[in-house]
Amino acid sequence: MTAHPPAHPALHTADPELAALIGAEERLQADTLRLIPSENYVSAAVLEATGTVLQNKYSEGYAGRRYYEGQQNIDLVETLAVERAKAVFGVEHANVQPYSGSPANLAVYLAFAAPGDTVLGMSLPMGGHLTHGWGVSATGTWFNGVQYGVRADTGRIDFDEVRDLARKERPKIIFCGGTAVPRTIDFAAFGEIAREVGAVLVADIAHIAGLVAGGAHPSPVPHADVIATTTHKTLRGPRGAMLMSRATHAKAIDKAVFPGLQGGPHNHTTAAIAVALREAAAPSFRDYAHAVVANAKALAEALLARGFDLVSGGTDNHLVLIDLTSKEVPGKVAAKALDRAGIVVNYNTVPFDPRKPFDPSGIRIGTPSLTSRGLGTERMPQVAEWIDRGVSAAAKGDEEALAAIRTEVADLMAAHPAPGLASAG
Ligand SMILES: *Cc1c(COP(=O)(O)O)cnc(C)c1O
Repeated sequence: MTAHPPAHPALHTADPELAALIGAEERLQADTLRLIPSENYVSAAVLEATGTVLQNKYSEGYAGRRYYEGQQNIDLVETLAVERAKAVFGVEHANVQPYSGSPANLAVYLAFAAPGDTVLGMSLPMGGHLTHGWGVSATGTWFNGVQYGVRADTGRIDFDEVRDLARKERPKIIFCGGTAVPRTIDFAAFGEIAREVGAVLVADIAHIAGLVAGGAHPSPVPHADVIATTTHKTLRGPRGAMLMSRATHAKAIDKAVFPGLQGGPHNHTTAAIAVALREAAAPSFRDYAHAVVANAKALAEALLARGFDLVSGGTDNHLVLIDLTSKEVPGKVAAKALDRAGIVVNYNTVPFDPRKPFDPSGIRIGTPSLTSRGLGTERMPQVAEWIDRGVSAAAKGDEEALAAIRTEVADLMAAHPAPGLASAG
């Protein structure tokens, strides 16, 4: 074997301890089957943009209206990101400065509500996000969070409940979208309810932004007042977020992000968002988005055929929520066993979960990462078989079976190098 130079030579010299940890993480991401639906692999180009000297620059304000000098290049970088966001999502206004999805949502509260006001969102255990008014979040303590869920019989959003709560509680803001919602979000139905009660409708498309950009999920644009998204999930950009809206809300949103909530934007992240949006505008990204959904549907089919219970009975998007109750394996036990088998998932509550949030009944899986590695629908029966074997091994405490799966997984992963990793060249 030839010794090849370290992937990050300066870091390797300056801080070998840290460089070793990053190297180990690269190998872990290369060798394992990553099924966490909020994760992905960014391209080498996106990764490079995040590691540039743009990170050295302070730029409080917006392009052409900054509080610091020397913005000749930064203004152009941010304008590029904004214009690309507007083109990809078909919106009139985009703010690319929010540090991440949670601060982006907090900026929405700041723009459209006052402390103590009522907001309506999907409850966390039903698939919503913490920042949609859940109790332990600042959004649920500083605001009056009222929560809707899904129907027990269908596992789908109960629009009768949403409408009744909206009429009764008169929320200032209604959030739709979530973190464990395997079905298409009916933005039109939410839009109708929001208009009836005079609420601002926020479509939080953090999970599905890449699917929306690639035409594999309907767009919220005609129905939502504000679109909030992270940039690092299906959109395959750096860790960051965006707020988008019609021109009428531009001022309120910009003011809320800066100076309302944040200081200087992370310019290196802004640049990487611009790169990711350029990639998302390419025809190949449409193929990617549709392949993510095709893979999730094929994986759901294969799991159903193996007797797994899926929340809502399947999926329309990138995500599958497995209820392991009938398998008599708690979600956490299954998730930890699968991790030892080289299959990375997260344990998750299922709607009406009789178990506790830190020890719930389900696992949540998704196909964005494996699709980024070029795996297609023909591989999904194999993935389902590994999950099935892994869950059975978890029930029996069969470590040998888990180790065998890990070897098989690593073999398939070696044949499908991930974008951006040193091993991918
Ligand atoms: C991931 C996510 C967020 C929060 O994003 P962070 O970057 O983790 O703060 C907000 N809303 C939804 C629906 C999400 O899935």
